[in-house]
Amino acid sequence: MTKHACSRRSFIGMAGAGIAGAALPRWAVAGLFADARDAELVVFNAKVYTVDSKLANAEAFAVRGGKFIAVGKSADIKDLIGKKTQIIDAQQMTVVPGFIDSHNHASGNTLLYEVLVGNPYEVEFVTISSIVDKLRLKAKTTPADTWVEGFFFDDTKLKDKRALDVHDLDQVSTELPVAVHHRGGHTTFYNSKALKMAGVTKTTPGVAGGTYDRDGSGELNGRVTDRAREVLYKVGKRPSYSADETMRRDREGLAYISKQFVRFGLTGVCHEGGNLRALEEVRARGDLLHRVSYEAEGAELEAMISGGMTTGLGDDWIKLGATFEHTADGSFSERTMALSIPYPGTSSGYKGNVTETQEVLNAWCERVHRAGIQLNCHANGDVAIDHVLTAYERALQLVPRPDARPKITHCTLINDDLVRRIKAINAVPALFTSYAYYNPDKFHFYGEELMKRCMAYRTLLDAGIPAAAGSDFDPGPFSPLMGIQGMVTRTGWNGEVWGANQRITVDEALRVNTINGAYATREEASKGSITPGKLADFVILAEDLHTVEPEKIKDIRVVRTVVGGLTAYRA
Ligand SMILES: [Zn+2]
Repeated sequence: MTKHACSRRSFIGMAGAGIAGAALPRWAVAGLFADARDAELVVFNAKVYTVDSKLANAEAFAVRGGKFIAVGKSADIKDLIGKKTQIIDAQQMTVVPGFIDSHNHASGNTLLYEVLVGNPYEVEFVTISSIVDKLRLKAKTTPADTWVEGFFFDDTKLKDKRALDVHDLDQVSTELPVAVHHRGGHTTFYNSKALKMAGVTKTTPGVAGGTYDRDGSGELNGRVTDRAREVLYKVGKRPSYSADETMRRDREGLAYISKQFVRFGLTGVCHEGGNLRALEEVRARGDLLHRVSYEAEGAELEAMISGGMTTGLGDDWIKLGATFEHTADGSFSERTMALSIPYPGTSSGYKGNVTETQEVLNAWCERVHRAGIQLNCHANGDVAIDHVLTAYERALQLVPRPDARPKITHCTLINDDLVRRIKAINAVPALFTSYAYYNPDKFHFYGEELMKRCMAYRTLLDAGIPAAAGSDFDPGPFSPLMGIQGMVTRTGWNGEVWGANQRITVDEALRVNTINGAYATREEASKGSITPGKLADFVILAEDLHTVEPEKIKDIRVVRTVVGGLTAYRA
């Protein structure tokens, strides 16, 4: 016998090749058995919240081949430790399944390359002068006719007790077009030069699905909403990059945001569009740390339809998911979503922006659904959710497909009838997560009566609808723990409580952020809980979110994030 025969692995080979069918001696069977069961990773001495009702109160688990192979008591799982097993003594820390974000604009380029005039991750108040200063600096190196742009602006996170306006942005430049984009993505603030270049004057009427806002004396104040911005997109220059340079920037952006995701405990994220080729290159380079459900739009969606690619194509790292959010109305945070009543506290009768006609919506949904692709529309207001459900019901009736799970991104303001219809077609809503904590400064625009029906996790879960968590980053911070805190407390950073009737428990919030996210992408059989056979995606937390003060959940330290059994982040 060679020296290798002493090792158990060699012995398996010999046993398999040489004495197949023969009864193995007892000691050999024991050796074979132990080797086959050896784990690559064992985590023990932990408080494991599996999110699998059959596996409650676990202390430990083992991983092999990137998947969980056993979950149970520390003493039992330790039996699976072999010579090469990586061992983590969790020292009674908490372990939960990897968090899943079901709606995220995850390019990362903005974070890396643009002027950020607000804080992407946390509640932070800034001054208008800080915004003007940052953009002035940018303007100094900006060529003629080229846009000077600021990102991550939040109109209710200003230390000045007034709104940003056209006069502030005229301080940046009177020669160059200037735009400050609200992080919500549906409103932009422009300077006079930009409005002039687009031919917008104080007499320009609004468009269907958009407005040019005015101050008390009827002058343009610089705020332009939703589709009224289209004329401004067409003027001015933006930096152009070669194909190689674009690819490099997109790769760097994706690699950068992947690091941020795992830092916050996210192991799965639905990407709203983005450069698919760059994503694949990031993965090939070993820089993709989280799993991606890719939600195609534009050219990529057309390629899916014409090429016969349907939802689910791909693998456990990059998979084609639902479509990009096809937008049916405006924004919740920027107060342009389509309501059935005028905005409370306003005298104009404004009911928000419907950004797509029912006819166009119907046709789009039918075409996508016929192509075998999971539908996904953005709808915030009750009017828009009604429109989207009408289009979904129609498509499903024309082309019945069991378990199509059409997705409703945001699904913010519901009523009993909408809930009944969502349930009837098994639609999957992906609600805002961090807003309850991050955005209480906007809820007074709606008032308590409407807030009782907004981000209605309690109502939807009670109806048996598996609501998922969609941060909508950039609009909302993507920290899942900030999201869970808001779902549990409905209390904002400022201590205000809105829609307390929609509170859910910590366990429910965990499900929303894990298994319900897996369900929304049709992957509940392979992820979303700590269950043998599923992908070994989990997070070790320094404290137990069940026992810590609820208003401290967002501050719990992510100690380690593991994706497919490999550590993607370590504090
Ligand atoms: Zn979005």
